[in-house]
Amino acid sequence: IKNIAVLTSGGDAPGMNACIRAVVRTGVYYGKNMFGVIQGYQGLINNNIEAMNARSVSNIIHLGGTILKTARCLKFKEDAGMELAYQNLKAKGIDGLVVIGGDGTFTGAKRFAEKYDIKVIGVPGTIDNDLYGSDFTLGYDTAINTVIEAIDKIRDTADSHDRLFFIEVMGRDSGCIALRSAIASGAEAVLLPERETSLKELITKLKEGASTKKSSSIVIVSEGNKYGGAYDIAHAVKRKFKHYDTKVTILGHLQRGGSPSGFDRILGSRLGFAATKALIKGETLKMAGLHGNEIKLTNLADALNKNNYKLEDDLLEMTHVLSI
Ligand code: ADP
Repeated sequence: IKNIAVLTSGGDAPGMNACIRAVVRTGVYYGKNMFGVIQGYQGLINNNIEAMNARSVSNIIHLGGTILKTARCLKFKEDAGMELAYQNLKAKGIDGLVVIGGDGTFTGAKRFAEKYDIKVIGVPGTIDNDLYGSDFTLGYDTAINTVIEAIDKIRDTADSHDRLFFIEVMGRDSGCIALRSAIASGAEAVLLPERETSLKELITKLKEGASTKKSSSIVIVSEGNKYGGAYDIAHAVKRKFKHYDTKVTILGHLQRGGSPSGFDRILGSRLGFAATKALIKGETLKMAGLHGNEIKLTNLADALNKNNYKLEDDLLEMTHVLSI
């Protein structure tokens, strides 16, 4: 491997810049020529690929978002788009690629590396924390801290007015953000895509809380749960529940932004460093991830297998036990 490119793709996540910095500097340190692709796979197709050096990544470790920009690119899903991407990389002599993104990004990376003679290593960069092979994904820690800070503020006003709040958080297919933020903010209930909670159960739980003199209740709603968004659920519950004044907050895109936490800066640095070293050793079709406190490689196929991934049992149980 002589020439390595790095890109960020799919949803942006805090810590991506720390990772880009680590990839570029590790490559430079080991004598490789480094390139940055602007706008993910779209940039590969548009030949938007720039040479980078150690100074290209100065002063970015603390920044949210991604200096390389990110995009969703339908053309890369087609053979013709992939071929164009390959030709553009080949023309620059690029033989290694680090992709930072989520499961969509890895699905594309896997197809690409299986088809062409370019080695690809993935770094899990998504606030959703929904990939097997890394205890935590890049951006997740910052996102839950942002969510927890917001819920704390809502709790102040909820408590002052005896209100029932439904707070919708991100996670179309994964309840990771909802689960941990519910525990850390002391929420009364949480609705997750991975777990069936009937509205009847939810109402019973809230009534129990009211009867034991809880002065406010907060329900965390993960986007992907089966009853719909926070407004739908609030509407269904409100009719059966007169004790509290009911309100809804949708946290939305603020969950993606902000300066990365110390944890995400370090994780991004470690994963970028490991991914680049793996590429230099000739590895491909793998993802660098955190296991306990070690960085290990996992096959992209395993990382993408949804059967491998599940929420922690103790956290699920705690949502019932600690919210009485
Ligand atoms: P994330 O990586 O955050 O899950 P997306 O699901 O939007 O985000 O995927 C990012 C990009 O990965 C897509 O816009 C597309 O370019 C590429 N991608 C996703 N699925 C495939 C696929 N089956 N084949 C090729 N490329 C894909």
